[in-house]
Amino acid sequence: MHHGNGTQALFEDDPRVLYVSLHRFPFYPNTGHHQECGRGAGKGYTVNVGWPEGGVGDAEYLAAFRQLILPIARSFDPQFVIISAGFDAAAGDPLGGCDLSPAGYAHMTAELLTLRGGKARCLLVLEGGYNLTSIARSAEACVRVLLGEPPLPLPPDHDPSYLLESADNAIMRTAAVHVRFWPALRQVWGSSLDPYLASIDLAQREDAARADADAAREAAALRRQEEHRELLRAQLAHQQAQLELARQQRALRHQAQAQAQQAETPGDGGDGARPPHRTMADDES
Ligand SMILES: [Zn+2]
Repeated sequence: MHHGNGTQALFEDDPRVLYVSLHRFPFYPNTGHHQECGRGAGKGYTVNVGWPEGGVGDAEYLAAFRQLILPIARSFDPQFVIISAGFDAAAGDPLGGCDLSPAGYAHMTAELLTLRGGKARCLLVLEGGYNLTSIARSAEACVRVLLGEPPLPLPPDHDPSYLLESADNAIMRTAAVHVRFWPALRQVWGSSLDPYLASIDLAQREDAARADADAAREAAALRRQEEHRELLRAQLAHQQAQLELARQQRALRHQAQAQAQQAETPGDGGDGARPPHRTMADDES
């Protein structure tokens, strides 16, 4: 029910380990998006199926096995299969909100036992689950299969042809991510992934066009801002020039006034007489 983020982190760049997770997404811990498919040499060796909502049960899990996980696993041909056997996807679990029956778990276990012509070693590690009765019944059903018993029959209302639409789409999304890594998926899906792949291409092209348009709009806005700033700078320069002109005119006026005053008092400076105000001050004292 929860994505195995730790296990994925351990092996996501390692092509010797195929990591497969079925979990709810978005859901704690909010990793395991279907596009997380491994890194570097490990690209294609991480397979994430994220159920968008609860309510998934035997039909959805077995469809994911049939259409996606088993074709990839058969191509990979593992020596060991190690299963993080958490039973919080079981019906009755208070946290998972899903609907797997003990028989559903048993059928998945039986399918994994067929890998490598039945020679792959399977290890189930009990991990979790929050309803003790559901855990006990599911774990028992799995262990019985490990001991060689046939899996319990699926519940009478099991209908493999009816899947929750969101789950059906989730399986397809993961298959679309992995079809380029695993030719076996091409055999299962034929050309039925093509419209979806084309729609992804189209969406990516539209995204790119939108990003281009956004960038162009942003550049135009920047250009307009720059032009506006340029205009303000020109206005400022104009104002400064006008102020400077006014200052020079004032200076010239003062100079002219001073010259005119000097011209109105001839002889005052030439005969060595004291400045008139000094004389007045002497008279008053
Ligand atoms: Zn869990």
